[in-house]
Amino acid sequence: MPPQLEVLDKVPWMIWTITPDGRCEFVNRFYLETTGLSADHCTAPPAVWKKSPRDLPPFLSGVHPDYRDRAASSFWDGVESGRGWTYEAPFRHADGAFHWHVRRAIPLHDSKGNLVRFVGTCADIQDFKVAQERLETAEERARLVVDRALDAIIVIDSDSTVLDWNEQAQDIFGWSRAQILGKQLADKIIPPEYRRAHKAGIKRFLTTGEGPLLNKRIEITGLHKEGHELQIELSIAPMKVGNRWTFSAFVRDLTESKRIAETLRETREELAWMSRLTAMGELSASIAHEIKQPLSAIISNVETSLYWLASSSPDIKKVSVITQLIGRDANRAIDIIGRIRSLINKTVSERVPLDMNALINDVLDLTGWELRKRQVSVKTELSSSLPMILGDRIQLQQVILNLILNGIEAMAPVEDRPRVLSVKSGPFKEGEIQVSFHDTGVGIDPASADQVFEAFFTTKPNGTGLGLSICRSIVEAHDGHISAMAGIPHGAVFQVNLPNGR
Ligand code: ADP
Repeated sequence: MPPQLEVLDKVPWMIWTITPDGRCEFVNRFYLETTGLSADHCTAPPAVWKKSPRDLPPFLSGVHPDYRDRAASSFWDGVESGRGWTYEAPFRHADGAFHWHVRRAIPLHDSKGNLVRFVGTCADIQDFKVAQERLETAEERARLVVDRALDAIIVIDSDSTVLDWNEQAQDIFGWSRAQILGKQLADKIIPPEYRRAHKAGIKRFLTTGEGPLLNKRIEITGLHKEGHELQIELSIAPMKVGNRWTFSAFVRDLTESKRIAETLRETREELAWMSRLTAMGELSASIAHEIKQPLSAIISNVETSLYWLASSSPDIKKVSVITQLIGRDANRAIDIIGRIRSLINKTVSERVPLDMNALINDVLDLTGWELRKRQVSVKTELSSSLPMILGDRIQLQQVILNLILNGIEAMAPVEDRPRVLSVKSGPFKEGEIQVSFHDTGVGIDPASADQVFEAFFTTKPNGTGLGLSICRSIVEAHDGHISAMAGIPHGAVFQVNLPNGR
């Protein structure tokens, strides 16, 4: 065997030659070892195997049955046209397993340009195919995750060019994938006033590796294609692929949830106001009494004053003292009316520094007559070192009022022991204050201590079951906590914890 042919025979690469009429002339040893076919089988003359014009030659007998037709047409097209062929198909190897091959043949011509033979090779691309398939599956999975995600997913590069944009992003911002891929993100969905900050943020991250907005959820304003702004929740994750940074943004439209939260807040405030009106209604006799007191004092002082003035030599000094008393009582009446009005008015909630002790005393003043009428004595232990809190005056007064009225009602059936309402306030653990109301009423079943805060839970024939539920929502809106427990030895204890205003 000439050395060139020996090299061809032994090279670890499958090589063969085909005559212009499609007969396999030569297959190298590596081909035979790989496929497990014999040389005689591969090079058998057409008379043996060619029953119809396009039958597969035996050297291709290992092709997977599903690919026979394709292999046959690629082969015969190449032979008949004289141009050779390239195709991919799975072939059975000596161990019985199918491996993908890429098979290629080129024509060889003599000096006159006549076709002499085809020379072909084939490469085992099984590993490559498997890797490609895995890659395609992974890509498809990633695409599906992005497309099916409930959030909008937007990917940009370090120049802010949009690399990916899913359907939800289209729903939120109005731009289709085709319209926005390759475009500058800032120009499309960031309101003009934030664009500079966006660019600066990316630049800062690329130079320092830091970004205060990265990897956390933030609420921010976005821009819709139609030009209106929208509230969105955004989180941004930077990712380094190779040596390029990309940024993935996950976006949720908050418009609807903001609207619902706003409606809910309004409804809650409306309900709280109604409940305040109801409580004030219950207190009307007490309130009337509170106002009547200074008014009666005024009337009697006016009478005294007139009496003094009617004398032949009026004692101006005495009249002046009495007039001052009249002024004081009038102010007291105005004060009470002001307090009642503020509780009855609908107001927008606002946070101001408040002294809880003062709020408690105000409400005790309003309920004073009611407490006396129901023979309830009040014991107060209000800490003089109580830190201020930040809160809404009317809302917190409503909580105090509800708790005091509930205490009065719980003590109404009690005949065999004193009716005492103990109100305490004090700094609680670090950063908190606590206010507690302990009555000597019918008490609370420890098993239903949490239930009392549920809306519509009531044990009273005419109860609404809303008072405590409103108290809880007010306290929680102040980042506080309210709890109920059985009192020792009698009654119930309600504790309100609130963060102090520092
Ligand atoms: P309502 O007063 O309309 O029933 P609340 O939400 O204020 O609504 O109270 C719910 C229930 O909690 C009351 O019906 C009562 O059973 C219980 N409760 C509230 N305060 C006390 C208390 N101080 N002592 C015992 N039970 C109480």
